[in-house]
Amino acid sequence: MPLARASVLENFKTPLALREFPLPALEPGAALVRTEMAGICGTDVHLWKGELKIGLPVILGHETVGKIEQLGEGLNRDWNGEPLSVGDRVTWTSTISCGKCFYCAEKKQPTRCPHRRAYGIGYRCDEAPHFMGGYAEFHYLRPGSNIFKIPSDLSTESVIGAGCALITAIHGVERTGIDWQDIVVVQGAGPVGISALAVAKSAGAAKVIVLGAPSPRLEMAKRFGADHVINIDEVKTPEARIAAVKDLSRGYGADVVLECVGHPSAITEGMEMCRDGGKYLILGHYCDAGTIEFNPHIITRKQLQVFGSWSSEPRHMRAALEFLRTHKNQFPFNTMVTHRFPLDRANEALETTAKWISAKSVIIP
Ligand SMILES: [Zn+2]
Ligand SMILES: [Zn+2]
Repeated sequence: MPLARASVLENFKTPLALREFPLPALEPGAALVRTEMAGICGTDVHLWKGELKIGLPVILGHETVGKIEQLGEGLNRDWNGEPLSVGDRVTWTSTISCGKCFYCAEKKQPTRCPHRRAYGIGYRCDEAPHFMGGYAEFHYLRPGSNIFKIPSDLSTESVIGAGCALITAIHGVERTGIDWQDIVVVQGAGPVGISALAVAKSAGAAKVIVLGAPSPRLEMAKRFGADHVINIDEVKTPEARIAAVKDLSRGYGADVVLECVGHPSAITEGMEMCRDGGKYLILGHYCDAGTIEFNPHIITRKQLQVFGSWSSEPRHMRAALEFLRTHKNQFPFNTMVTHRFPLDRANEALETTAKWISAKSVIIP
């Protein structure tokens, strides 16, 4: 079997190692993809630091675009029913839900399917088929993977620039609901915050206020149509930021506040930014960032509706690709890709993400 290269997380908090593995033989229904571009997600930094319990060694990378190299027997259509051929440019969801369990079949919460394992997170690479993450020359797609052919008028940069953040935001906003002409606050101007801003604007929000730092991120928010930005390095106290939001919402607070920060200290502040009877979505806490002192009285007193949202479903990927294709001028996700690295410099790609230097770092193997 020919060998191919991958950048491998072998030990937490140590540099990724360039390794070679044999290319796997294809099972029926599987596919082998030649990686064109792999996005670095903030979650990869948490994984590298060992903040989520995963088995090592792992090939990181759960936002990937590639070209079909081989198709297994019986695989000839993508998730949309479009014909699939060798050479097609594709992306895929990082997880596969079973469709049969309590959460999939009965409660219609497939993102909570206990049988889900994520590419780039949940598969060890020291056993075949090895190539189950984005930071590699090839990617193996298991039978049952949700594969999406990318239309020719949609760039790889747009798909990776949006990454898992956009599908996460689409699901979160869907669960929360934004009414036409709502005033929306987005806490955080990282990839999830920028995506939440784009989804809120397209959902009909009258005004979107984005809080975050550093200023290049807020400039990006303005390019994506933020009506107001508040730099948390300049407006330093929660009291001042809450007052600023109220000033921009007739003194009442926002109809909907979307948390895209991932730090527990943002929660009480964000809830205080809601108007009474408003909605609060906690979207940014993918990792367990610890606890805070919290007074639940605020939820009762303000009659808040509080939502959570985990990951996304294949239908959100379908919607994201269509949204990216039809809104590329209004929401230039391709410009999120600011730093490109070859496979043997994957460590630098992780570092620029960890230090918030890049909007989006990518690996081009
Ligand atoms: Zn991610
Ligand atoms: Zn299931």
